[in-house]
Amino acid sequence: MSDEAPKKGHGLRRKLVVGGVATTAALGLAVPVAFAQESDDAPTTEEAPEPDGDRAPFQRLVDEGVLSEEQATAVHDAFEAAKEGNEDLSREERQELKQSVLDGLVSDGTIDEEEAQAIEDARPRRGHHGGRNLDTVAEVVGIEPDALRVLLCGTSSPLPHPTRAKPCVAIFAGGRFYAVDVGLGSWNRLAGWRVDAGRLGGVLLTHFHSDHIGELGEFDLQSWVAGRPGPLPVYGPPGVERVVAGFEEAYALDAGYRTIHHGSELLPPDVGRMQAQVIDRSSDPGGDRMLVLEENGLRITAFEVDHAPVAPAYGYRFDYRGRSVVVSGDTVKSPTLVEVSRGADVLVHEAQANHIVALIGEAAAQVGRPRVAKIMSDIPDYHTTPVEAAEVANEAGVGLLVLYHLTPPPPLALIERVFVRGVSEVREDDWILADDGLLVELPVDSDEVVVSQLD
Ligand SMILES: [Zn+2]
Ligand SMILES: [Zn+2]
Repeated sequence: MSDEAPKKGHGLRRKLVVGGVATTAALGLAVPVAFAQESDDAPTTEEAPEPDGDRAPFQRLVDEGVLSEEQATAVHDAFEAAKEGNEDLSREERQELKQSVLDGLVSDGTIDEEEAQAIEDARPRRGHHGGRNLDTVAEVVGIEPDALRVLLCGTSSPLPHPTRAKPCVAIFAGGRFYAVDVGLGSWNRLAGWRVDAGRLGGVLLTHFHSDHIGELGEFDLQSWVAGRPGPLPVYGPPGVERVVAGFEEAYALDAGYRTIHHGSELLPPDVGRMQAQVIDRSSDPGGDRMLVLEENGLRITAFEVDHAPVAPAYGYRFDYRGRSVVVSGDTVKSPTLVEVSRGADVLVHEAQANHIVALIGEAAAQVGRPRVAKIMSDIPDYHTTPVEAAEVANEAGVGLLVLYHLTPPPPLALIERVFVRGVSEVREDDWILADDGLLVELPVDSDEVVVSQLD
């Protein structure tokens, strides 16, 4: 499988991008200046701490079945020993040191090449704390410098995964945030990162498959309780009014209890409502794009993608003070999406690994599960493969491609590498397989792209 693995320095969580250039210097250690300013103890970029003393990364690889306990201990000890007397190395020298430690472990047989690569891929995910201060993360919608920010609050798909929430992309701009889809588990993610729910400006639904709408009631209720100033707008294709009415009805008794219990001053019933906003061609006739809203310098447009038989299904583009993000929603490889994404800083695109889906289908048929086999044979015709998503990103000339809505969601670091097979050949650089908590920041008046990972 070594020929399938991303080349060193490319892909997966290892690749963090600053100013459009992938750098090992940004391995989750670089703290954006904005955050460093927010906290006395947050290190500057130059002083960001090394994560090597932490055994957690290696333990996680044990949990994932990549390393044995003995290997994890040996690798951890080797890194600790290498640090002795090497505290003052430059970033590049530290990187070389890490590489030589791994090479040494391979040559003495402690680990093999694949395990070394898995350690390489895994390290930034563990190192991402980088001094990032949770209190400042909670203020992410309001801090300076002004930026367009993208936080992945759910990266899974209908198939189960122990830790990934179902699709959700939170976009922060102009002091508010907007959720593109609200899959199951995604509210818990945002709450865990202490995002200020009262700043939720709206929900944008791409379509009404259950994995995209499951927590609409929770987003409404929780942001109301947190002090949202008015009813929650919920944008989407025709049909959004039915979805909103259904969730409102399901949550009506609960909303009533809360107002009775806490008082209508704290929880005014009219503020707790949702407002369905149908987006259709009449919103902006002519051209591929439909206007959703314009406020506080943020312009959101919708466009049709191809997720037949689900129709219409939308993607969304966000433009804020010269920076831009496109979210694909669920679609096959879409020419409209290419057009709409042209020149965008970031494209967040769904990805379905059909080569893995086919294996699941074959296995299901062999063990007598024809329903699963049938579904696995049906779904390739309405999603985009990771390689196709890379082609879309190249054709559109976007800065950074973020793969999400992963089908099937990879259960192990090793499977992630199978999932993205072929992507590096199409797009060597500037792509990331997202995990929940991936944060991409686009400061205004800049072409910087700052990537980090929240727990
Ligand atoms: Zn979906
Ligand atoms: Zn769908």
